[in-house]
Amino acid sequence: MTDKNIPPFYKALKAFAKKKNTLWSTPGHASGVGLKSSPSGKDFYEFFGHNLFLSDISSSVSELGSILEHQGPPAQAEKRAAEVFGADTTFFVLNGTSTANKVVFFATVAPGDLVLVGRNCHKSIMHAIIMNEAIPIYLTPKPCSYGIIGPVGFEQFTKESIRSKIASSRLATNKKAAKVQLTVLTNSTYDGIIYHADKIKSALASLTRFLLFDEAWYAYGAFHPFYEHRYAMSPSPKRRLPIFASQSTHKLLLAFSQGSMLHFRQGNEKLDLQGLIEANLMHASTSPFYPLFASLDVNTQIMKDNGYDLLNKALGTALRFRRAVSRAYKRYAKNGEWWFRVWQPSQKMELDPEDWKLKPGDNWIGMEIKSQDDYILDPLKITLLTPGVREDASMTEEGVPACIVAKYLQARGIIVEKTGFYNLLFLFAPGVSTERSAELLRVLHDFKWEYTDNAPVKKWFPEIYRQYPTVYQNMGLADLCKVMHNQLKKSDIMRRCANLYTVLPEQAVAPHKAYYGLSDGKTEYVRLQDAPGRVSVLMILPYPPGVPVIMPGERFPALNSPIMEFLRLNEQLDNLFPGFETEFHGIKKTWENGKVTYWVSVLNKTKKGKAA
Ligand SMILES: *Cc1c(COP(=O)(O)O)cnc(C)c1O
Repeated sequence: MTDKNIPPFYKALKAFAKKKNTLWSTPGHASGVGLKSSPSGKDFYEFFGHNLFLSDISSSVSELGSILEHQGPPAQAEKRAAEVFGADTTFFVLNGTSTANKVVFFATVAPGDLVLVGRNCHKSIMHAIIMNEAIPIYLTPKPCSYGIIGPVGFEQFTKESIRSKIASSRLATNKKAAKVQLTVLTNSTYDGIIYHADKIKSALASLTRFLLFDEAWYAYGAFHPFYEHRYAMSPSPKRRLPIFASQSTHKLLLAFSQGSMLHFRQGNEKLDLQGLIEANLMHASTSPFYPLFASLDVNTQIMKDNGYDLLNKALGTALRFRRAVSRAYKRYAKNGEWWFRVWQPSQKMELDPEDWKLKPGDNWIGMEIKSQDDYILDPLKITLLTPGVREDASMTEEGVPACIVAKYLQARGIIVEKTGFYNLLFLFAPGVSTERSAELLRVLHDFKWEYTDNAPVKKWFPEIYRQYPTVYQNMGLADLCKVMHNQLKKSDIMRRCANLYTVLPEQAVAPHKAYYGLSDGKTEYVRLQDAPGRVSVLMILPYPPGVPVIMPGERFPALNSPIMEFLRLNEQLDNLFPGFETEFHGIKKTWENGKVTYWVSVLNKTKKGKAA
């Protein structure tokens, strides 16, 4: 490695650490020395190694400049990142994209401002809405037969659509507003659907003042021609809107956890960058962790030197895995046997974006697509479909619920990124080797054999068996798949999932008002079945599907609405299959006499007896 491959901040930090200074400043461990006098401290020091402790220094070391003031080596590092990632300005954010998103809100949104956000956004966006007392206008994701979280349809990026949403919002005070202050889109979606970002920039140019692409899962768009025009900082088209991109460098690139970048490009109307600096200061600790900052600096250098190769290799590994699964699918199908399918276009797959477009009429997608060029699927995010659902959301005779496969994989030391009812998501990050991908394939085959042998539940899920022996007594994996699938089929779960976003709940109060109910002591817990008509304090977010069904301040709809039926169904399933419970944010579960009950937090009724 030549010196020119060592980026500026990392270089300065290393040079400083090598000098073995005596520090009369924080942190108190004083280069790790303080740890060595106790056994656990010594172990900790030795486990992580002395270089880490030599590099964990106070922000008062002047030769390392200032992270918070963007001066010296930190400023050089951020400036280079802006060049490499295609931004005018880049900040390294040391509390993840959760914080980067909040920084954008603090820099652009004032109380009462309208913000247009996808309902499939990350929870940090809702936190930012609450913190800034913004008024959300929601974009809805497309329903999908496979329970995959769809992208937002482009028909929602028109003046008519936005105007009508504002006009029908109970919370917007300026009903005639032609513009929203900020629009937030998740690019790519969790499941790897990438927007034609340049088209969106043009479509929204006169409809929003600022645009934020949350690219937490997609920090690499700039580094491979496959993604051209489809990422926030893409150099075309003509500059009109000021655009932000928040990226979790730690998620699919190679930084330490919490290492994120916030990129910004100016538009016609200039944003005073001081606002962005202040917003960042409001969220940053005054004691930044230097090794974390250095890891972002190094990631810039890696992407500058090897970005294309890194991506190309990861894409190659992902394509090979996709082909191997498809080949096996065909082989099993010949014998009339089930196997996993990959959610992807069925044609021969090369690294040509044309092959990865979601096109109208393609039935592999399970969603209605209106135009050729709006979305592509990212080959790096691989969704495996387990048997059970057809492309029209109807359910097949036999099925293999994905949560059982995921539990099996977990027992074999393989952790899945996301589990749906009949799908599993695997991320092919640059760190995934061919060996690791081959191992995954092997274990998926093993599952198939264990299923065929109807291997005892007791063998693979001993912990669940130990807790609920009567439920799972004498059951094998195939038996378990059968009873669970029959139950899911009986409840028509996939159509219910697809219908979740067809009718949005009524917005009763702004999200921040619902939240302030907590500190004002104006909230109570009620049983889920008693919630209709009451106003939710929290975001209700079931996994799967992983998109909030009720936002803070929204009213629980009637018991026979798709949302309530879906939530109550989950309560029922939890009772039938203990150990395989649905995960939730915003629902409190209690167990009594072996029975699960769901509770939700709602605002107290007002004096007039009306909810909120
Ligand atoms: C993970 C995630 C975030 C938050 O990122 P962190 O770096 O974990 O704070 C924001 N947005 C989306 C879409 C995410 O998936």
